Amino acid sequence: METAQLLTQKPPKKINLKGLWIEDLERLLRELGEKRYRARQLASWIYAKGATEFDQMTDFPKKLRKKLSQIASIDSIKLVKKQVSPKDFSEKYLFELSDGEKIETVLMREGKRVTVCLSTQVGCPLGCTFCATGKMGFKRNLTTGEIVDQILALRRERITHLVLMGMGEPLLNYDNVLKALRIINHELGLSFAGKAITLSTAGIPPMIRKLAEENLRIGLAISLNAPTDEKRDQLMPINRKYPLKELIASVRYFKQRVKRRVTFEYVLIKEINDFKKDAQTLSQLLQGLPCKINLIPYNRVPDLPYQRSSEEKILAFRDYLYPRCPVVTLRLSKGEDILAACGQLRTQS
Ligand code: SF4
Repeated sequence: METAQLLTQKPPKKINLKGLWIEDLERLLRELGEKRYRARQLASWIYAKGATEFDQMTDFPKKLRKKLSQIASIDSIKLVKKQVSPKDFSEKYLFELSDGEKIETVLMREGKRVTVCLSTQVGCPLGCTFCATGKMGFKRNLTTGEIVDQILALRRERITHLVLMGMGEPLLNYDNVLKALRIINHELGLSFAGKAITLSTAGIPPMIRKLAEENLRIGLAISLNAPTDEKRDQLMPINRKYPLKELIASVRYFKQRVKRRVTFEYVLIKEINDFKKDAQTLSQLLQGLPCKINLIPYNRVPDLPYQRSSEEKILAFRDYLYPRCPVVTLRLSKGEDILAACGQLRTQS
């Protein structure tokens, strides 16, 4: 080969280990002629201890560290911007991914509870008409590493809870999300108990049933937002494919298998879904299903025509539902002033 050709030849791309789990690492180490147990050590260094350089792995012989650094890397997403709400101190982080795409991650504080809201896709393909992310359209799925890295980037914050409720529909990125959940849940990974994790979905019944079989014991939240197919079709186009009857049947199945109370999120939008009749239909729809209803006053999204229900309507809606439904909470969204609240995430900068 000519010298000029050699000089312009790109070096082979290194394997990013972030996102690989024990079985993948075992395969890689086997190819390097290393013992199997090293994979568990390597996983623990990357996820539990948050190592970003092979030289930090002090219980690995120097030879192995060198071998690894020649073929692999531990890449991180890049923090571009952090905004803090002066009102409630919630924080919105803008991260840049290796291909230049951007995502947002939100951190909320409530006493000792620190919850991080993770994104799972760049944009979202479901196009809910009230949601800023839906308006962005869909760019791509996040990799397992990019999902987990949002937590690693904020690990100093003593996170207690995780919600998969940021940009994207987690169940449409099933394999990467599931692998991320296994890493997040495992003691060699990030050690979050299933009860500290909630996955929120717009409602993809076959995937809800699949998730119920995974033995993860995580919580499930359904972004419901309307009590009839007619109204839900308007707000959430996915309902035309999977109407309420099919969605609720899959939620019952999840409840039965996982034995955890499911949460229904209901965003209250002025004169769209906040009538007394809506509250009545909602309580009938969820009758006999042990669940929690979380009412969320709509958060403004620039360029969208919807408005928040009046306080009077919000309280009347809640008071009709409770005690007809066992647990009803009224969630005052955090981070509204920095557009970090539910349905407001959209990468602008
Ligand atoms: S509400 Fe959720 S599912 Fe609907 S468009 Fe927004 S991010 Fe996607």
